[in-house]
Order: sequence, then C-alpha cells, then structure tokens
Amino acid sequence: MTSPNDRSQKHHLWRPYTQMKSAAPPLEAVRTHGSRIVLADGRELIDGIASWWTAAHGYNHPHIRAAVAAQLEAMPHVMFGGLTHAPAERLAARLAALLPGDLDHVFFTDSGSVAVEVALKMAVQMWINRGVSGRTRILSFREGYHGDTLGAMSVCDPDEGMHRRFGAYLPAQVFCDLPRTAAQVAALDATLAAERATLAAVIVEPLVQGAGGMRMHPPEVLATVARLAERHGLPLIADEIFTGFGRTGTLFACEQAGIVPDILCLSKALTGGTMALAATVATGAVFECFLSDDPAAALMHGPTFMANPLACAAANASLDLFEGEPRLRQAATIAAALADGLEPLRDLPQVADIRVLGAIGAVQFRAPPDLADLKRRFLARGTWVRPFGDIVYLTPALTIGADDLAHLLEAMRAVVAETA
Ligand code: PLP
Repeated sequence: MTSPNDRSQKHHLWRPYTQMKSAAPPLEAVRTHGSRIVLADGRELIDGIASWWTAAHGYNHPHIRAAVAAQLEAMPHVMFGGLTHAPAERLAARLAALLPGDLDHVFFTDSGSVAVEVALKMAVQMWINRGVSGRTRILSFREGYHGDTLGAMSVCDPDEGMHRRFGAYLPAQVFCDLPRTAAQVAALDATLAAERATLAAVIVEPLVQGAGGMRMHPPEVLATVARLAERHGLPLIADEIFTGFGRTGTLFACEQAGIVPDILCLSKALTGGTMALAATVATGAVFECFLSDDPAAALMHGPTFMANPLACAAANASLDLFEGEPRLRQAATIAAALADGLEPLRDLPQVADIRVLGAIGAVQFRAPPDLADLKRRFLARGTWVRPFGDIVYLTPALTIGADDLAHLLEAMRAVVAETA
C-alpha cells in the first residue's frame, strides 16, 4: 500500500500554498482530541493554532459529535433550492438573535471566501436593485485578507505576495490605510468623498487583520471606519470570519466598538471547526433592497452544498457550547497567559513587536525568518505552530488546558529566542 507521502510525491494530491516541486512531504494526521493532533508515526502535537483558528471548543467535542451523528441518521444533505430544514432555520434564527442590531437575514455558504463573495455581490446588487448605476467598486484596507476567490482576492492587500500575480485579472478596488492617525482619518474621509459615486461598500476585518499579519487595531479605529462609511452613505461589510465566536474576547469583534455593520461574514469557528459552513448576514435595510416583483432582483447565488444539514447541526451544537460553557472567560484567561508569556520576548533584538488581543498572540520578527526551520523547531517541541511572513502566532482552542498552553508558550519563547 502506498503511504500518503508516497502519493503526494506523485502529486495526486495538490496541497494549499505549497511549492509541490520542493516542499517537504506533509505530516499525516490520523486522529485529533482536545487540543492535540495525533500523527501516523504516533507523535502527538499540541495544536497552537486550532486548525486555522476554527476549533474553538477543541477537537472532537462530544456534544458536536453527537449532534452531527444524529443529523447523519436523519438527513446528511438535501438541496436548499425550494426546500428548507430545521437545522438551518434554527441556526439562522439563533445567529440573528446573537448578532448585534438587526443583522437578521442569513445566507449560508460553505467557505469564508465564498461568504465574502456573497457579501460583495449583495452590496453591488443592492445598488443595482435601487436603480443606481456605476457603484461596483469596494473600498478595502491595506494589509487586509478576505480569501482566495476572485472577488475576495480583489479586496485583499494589493501588495500582498500571494495574490499579486492575479492583479490584472481582478476587479480594481480602492485601498486606504486603516484610520489609526488623524492624517489617516482625513485620507479615508477624502477618498470616500472622491470615490463615493463608484463605490458599493467598505469592507473591514474588525479589530484584527489576521492572515495579513495579525495586526490589531483598537475599537475606536473600527468605530471610525463605521462612522465614515455611514457619513458617505456606504454599507459596511464586517469580515468576522477570523474574529467571530470569541476569538477577540467578545462573541463578535464588532461588539467592542459598539457598531452594527450592514453585512457581516462568518465561517471558521461557526461549526466549532468541524464542518465547512459560512454565513453572510445582512440587516433588514439590505435585505429589503432584494424584495421586488422582479424575479431578477433576487440574490443570484446558490452553492450546491449551502446550508448542509450536517454543518448546520454542528453549528447549532457549537452555539449550545458558547451558551452553556464559559468560552469568553476562557478567552480572557488565554489572553492574560499570552500577554504574560510573550511579553518577555519584546526585549530580544530580533523581535519587532508583540501583539495580543483576546486569544490571539503574535510575535513579529524584524526580518522574515527561515520558516521551514522555525516549523521544524516547533515540531521538535511537540507543538503545531505555522509561522508566516515575519509572524509567528498562537490562536489555540478556547478550551485549551493550562498545561498545554504553558507548553506552547514555552516553545514560543525557546524558538523565538533561538531565531536570531
Ligand atoms: N476572511 C478572513 C478574515 C479570513 O481570515 C479568511 C481565512 O483565513 C477568509 C476570509 C477566507 O476563508 P476560507 O479560507 O474559509 O475561504
């Protein structure tokens, strides 16, 4: 029998963000539990990043497993065109109740990138349905990341390496710096005024730009973005795909700025990281723009696997856990441990910055380190940590035990100190 590594060397399996010519074979995971990933060779790794920030309750939570198993018996999948089902109806109502303001209308898809695509299409079609032409561009922020599909790529940082080569293929958008300083506030205001007639919306990652470099901003900056978007009559899209479900210390990051965006995107921890599900949620005012006697005014989107019942059952079970277990308190405990544990690294000459917000702790190097070497060093310490660019970060499960978190922080301190 061929092992997964033999197969990947024959390139049947094409891996993400991977130079297939030269990359080392991937590790084979065979089991997960709690905050641990068990490898085929028997090693057990403490996961420092909760599978790309999804596994909020740790792996294999029995409550989510039971909900998915029950749903598997009843109806694993059914098309959503012309049909509905209780797991989706219930989940939509629960999200509407949990989200701020009147973010009440939930459109389900199956990945974060597609949730962003739907948000962009909603914003553009909203203007078309209102009879306003020419409003097709999106104002986005430098250093942002919103996904890998075409529309989502077009609103990512325009200088970011991963998507830059597609530049000519992407819709041209408008970019500004986040308004951290008075000059940046004025620049954003002026750009919105100048470009307003061509803009459909503003998109922002609330409180932390994740894959763009774990860059945090205070709630006042987010409030300024919301205020300026409103002043210029533009809907605000909040991309909470990373920040949603407790990661920044509140259930949703927008809560900390007291804002209600017009459209909000969720995915990742929506199912506690167990199933592929995403949601684009709109306010009543946005939703009403699609109500018409004209069938063509409907939202023209409908992925085959949207609102998959297994995924909705997992998400409902995940919400039970957020309601019944002290996840936000756990996030606060992790935040304090990350701050204490990472702060001593600030004095090292190779460290440019330490940033902590909620259950996110990032170390930025002055120069990009040898990432492969860094990854090997984390593995040698029994930890699963994935540095990128000049950043190494921890975003553990909110349920991680104190010992595992201490072990991760010890590994971070050792590996960063060794990386001159
Ligand atoms: N938006 C944000 C803020 C993200 O962090 C990500 C993924 O990291 C995405 C969108 C894209 O989500 P997905 O990878 O599920 O397509």
